[in-house]
Amino acid sequence: MRIFKFGGASVKDAAGIRNVYEVLQIVGHEDVLLVVSAMGKTTNALEVVVKNYMDKSKELKESLQDVKKYHSEILLDLFEDDKHKVFSDVAAHFADMEYFLGHNKSPNYNFVYDQIVSYGELISTVILSHYMNYRSISTTWIDVRNFIKTDSTFRDANVDWEQTQKNISKNVKRKQLNITQGFLGSDENGFTTTLGREGSDYTAAIFAYCLNADSVTIWKDVPGVMNADPRYFENATLLNQISYREAIELAFYGATVIHPKTLQPLQGKEIPLYVKSFLNPKLPGTSVSKGADLDPQLSCFIVKKNQLLISLSSIDFSFIMEENISEIFALLHKYKMKVSLIQNSAISFSVCVDDKFGNFQELKATLSKKFKVSYNENVSLYTIRHFDDKASKMVEKDKKVLVKQISRETLQIVTLES
Ligand code: ADP
Ligand code: ASP
Ligand code: MG
Repeated sequence: MRIFKFGGASVKDAAGIRNVYEVLQIVGHEDVLLVVSAMGKTTNALEVVVKNYMDKSKELKESLQDVKKYHSEILLDLFEDDKHKVFSDVAAHFADMEYFLGHNKSPNYNFVYDQIVSYGELISTVILSHYMNYRSISTTWIDVRNFIKTDSTFRDANVDWEQTQKNISKNVKRKQLNITQGFLGSDENGFTTTLGREGSDYTAAIFAYCLNADSVTIWKDVPGVMNADPRYFENATLLNQISYREAIELAFYGATVIHPKTLQPLQGKEIPLYVKSFLNPKLPGTSVSKGADLDPQLSCFIVKKNQLLISLSSIDFSFIMEENISEIFALLHKYKMKVSLIQNSAISFSVCVDDKFGNFQELKATLSKKFKVSYNENVSLYTIRHFDDKASKMVEKDKKVLVKQISRETLQIVTLES
């Protein structure tokens, strides 16, 4: 069985949905499971709905209306007959969401977030599934929440592999085209959970692992994995083949083309991962598989914007030792800060972090009791794998460098953008 993942960019409008049909005609669709994200920027739009709801804002209705309108325009473009069942199926999901908004009593932001934001994927897969049937490709729509079981860490749930493996091996039918939602799961009480932003690649890897799939293909708006994000770097070059290890490193440092959690389940079973262009499905793209000899000889550039550089120093000039460091890390973990760089000296300690959940103010208040805290917001973290002099000069040009760190294969620079 092959697993295909179509992300938000590939299904952002009616033309995108039609293109998925074209891709399947070219690459085949028997014995395939499609993992699909919410359309375009729907997840962001639903985040606004959640915020308005929790803030009891007057803008709630309008923000929900925006999401409805966006989907309705796509539907009207795709299906000539507005009596087609897809219209009532999509309306039923919106009605369920509104029922939740009207009856929910939970003040837990993260819980509410998952119950609402999940409709993006539920609705996109309903639309895609109906559209394929409409074009005479028959599909089976699967509610992923009956398959991927997680703990109750809303917005960042951890997979219960044993339960998930059982559900998937027992109930996923082969030899047909299955369509399911990326990013979602459910906890033991049956409440919807999500696996973290951009988590649909990970969903594809979970299914691949549990089904011993032949391969995973993630379909992107770029030709494959390149040596840099073409949005920020001119002359980015396609990497034809890379090892799991290189891919994990690139994803870990922030190459958003692959979600970092995707590689680990695949490499365990040596399931190849292909990253291909949904606009040119016949091109080979990038193949990720085993073997150090596959690694690129050219420098790879990764940039993470909107990072936070936090520097701590001891108030009384005492050393920052293991004990303090473990305490600092416990706090970073508690506030769900993803650490991407660490640097310390005798009396100071700096970390560059991604404050994904907006917890910095709380963290700062706690840290300030013990340390002098200084920080820079909105810094950029550049990572160059397989760096050379030319590559580092290029990145540093016109920027104020705050921290620079060099290891054997990797150079990292934290900068203030000029
Ligand atoms: P999806 O639609 O699956 O969510 P994403 O937008 O998350 O897709 O990922 C594709 C984007 O990743 C590309 O448009 C590109 O800007 C970005 N990207 C970042 N790093 C790289 C890289 N090294 N190679 C290719 N694309 C990259
Ligand atoms: N729709 C989710 C997000 O935008 C998951 C994904 O697209 O991978 O984060
Ligand atoms: Mg995405």
